Amino acid sequence: MKISQALWFLLARIGMTVLAGAFVGWLLGHVFVGIAGALALALGWQLLNLYWLEHWLQDRGSRDPPDTRGVWGEVVSRVVRLHRRKRFHKQRLLDVFRELRRSTAAMPDGVIVLNRDWEIAWFNRMAGRLLDLRRRNDLHMRITNLVRDPAFADYLQAGVFVQPLVITRNTAGRTHLAIQIVPYGGNQHLMLVRDISHQVALESMRKDFVANASHELRSPLTVVTGYLETLLQDDGIDPTLRNPLLEMQRQAQRMASIVSDLLDLSRLDALEEEPVGAPVDLALLCAMLRKDVLARPVHPEVRVELLSDAQLVGDQAEIHSAFSNLVDNAAKYTPASGSILLEWQVDASGQGRFSVRDTGPGIAAEHLPRLTERFYRVDSGRSRAAGGAGLGLSIVKHIMQHHGGSLEVQSTEGVGSTFTCVFPARRVSLGCAKDSIHHSLKSANAG
Ligand code: ADP
Repeated sequence: MKISQALWFLLARIGMTVLAGAFVGWLLGHVFVGIAGALALALGWQLLNLYWLEHWLQDRGSRDPPDTRGVWGEVVSRVVRLHRRKRFHKQRLLDVFRELRRSTAAMPDGVIVLNRDWEIAWFNRMAGRLLDLRRRNDLHMRITNLVRDPAFADYLQAGVFVQPLVITRNTAGRTHLAIQIVPYGGNQHLMLVRDISHQVALESMRKDFVANASHELRSPLTVVTGYLETLLQDDGIDPTLRNPLLEMQRQAQRMASIVSDLLDLSRLDALEEEPVGAPVDLALLCAMLRKDVLARPVHPEVRVELLSDAQLVGDQAEIHSAFSNLVDNAAKYTPASGSILLEWQVDASGQGRFSVRDTGPGIAAEHLPRLTERFYRVDSGRSRAAGGAGLGLSIVKHIMQHHGGSLEVQSTEGVGSTFTCVFPARRVSLGCAKDSIHHSLKSANAG
C-alpha cells in the first residue's frame, strides 16, 4: 500500500472515531466531551505507535520491527526495505574493497598509499618486504623517515614524477629499487616500488661484456695493423698484393675505431658522478674543429659564431670529443658546395647552447628519435662509406647526460641539420670580458 493511501485510511479512521465519540457523548448528553475523548484516544494511539517506532529504530539491528498496521506499518516496512538495501550495498562495497585489497596485496610490486603529508595510509606485503616496513610501527609515519635516501627526498621535493627513481638499498645484499609516484585524488599519492636488481645485474653484465670484448679486441688489432703497415712499407712486396693489403689496413683501422668508440661508451656508462670540470676555451676549440674540417681534401665552408662571452665549464676531453663528433658528422655528410656553422650562445633561461648547423642532406623525421641509439644509421651504405659505424651520436648523448645536459636534433630532409648540445645553467659561467668575444671570434674564423 502507498503511504498516501494509508494516510487516507488513517484520516477515515480518526473521522470514524470522532463520530463514535460524538455519538457516545450525545447519548450521555455531552457531545463535545465525547468528541474530545475520541480525539485524545486517537492521539494517544498515534503517540504509542511513534514510541514503538522510535524504540525499534534505536536498536534496529537486534530488535524485531513493531507489529503495526496502517500508516505506521507502511513507515516500518519502508525503513526495513531501506535498511536491507543499504546493507546489501554496504556488503557489495565491502566485497569489492576486500577483493581490491587482496589483489593489491598479492601484487608482485610494492604499493604504498600516501596521504597529503606523505604519511603512510596503507601498504601491501611486497612494499613491506622491499622497504622493511612494519605494519604496526610504520603506518602513519612520513615516508621520508623510513626511506632515508637523499635522492628520494629530492625526488619528492622536485615533484616531477614522469620518470621512476632508482635507489640502492644495502639491507641484506644490494637491492636496486625503482620507485614511481602516482598522484591521485586531491593531494594523495600512490607509491609503486619494484625490485629491479635482476635487470640492473643483467645491464651491468652487458656493459662488462662489451667493455671486456672491446678491450680484448684492441691488442690483436694493434698487432694486425702493425704488421700490415710493415708489409705496406716493404718495397719488395708483390704489387698484386698491395691493393688487398691496403683494403685490409682500411678495414682494420675501421675496426680499431669501432673498438675505441665502444670503449669510450663503456667508460661513459660506468661514470656515475657529474664531472666538476674546468672552463673550456671555446674559441680555441672551435678554431681547432674548423681547421680539422678545412684539412679534409674536399670540404664545405665553415664559420664560427660565438654569440655569448659566457664560458662553458666541463670535462675538456669529453666536450672536445662530443663537439668533434658533431662537426665530423657535418663535414662527412655536407657537400663541398654547402656550409657548416658552429654557434655558441646562452638562452634566456641561462642554458648554454652549442650548435652545429649544416646544409647537408638532412635526416627524415622518422629517424630522429632513434638517432642516438648504438649502431643506428640512417643510410648504412652512405654512413659506412663515410667511415661511420653509428656510435658517434650515442657517445655525444652520453657525454651530454654526464654533464647534466642533453642533445637536441633538428633536421629537414634536403635542407640540413642542426645538432645542439644544451648545457644546464650551472655549467655556464659569465666570466670573460665583453670585448674579448670579438678577439675570440676573429681568431676562431682565421686561417
Ligand atoms: P656515424 O658514425 O655512422 O656517422 P652517428 O651516430 O654519428 O654515426 O650518426 C648516426 C647517423 O645519423 C649516421 O649514420 C647518419 O646517417 C646520420 N647523421 C648524423 N649526422 C648527420 C648530419 N649532420 N647530416 C645528415 N645525417 C647525419
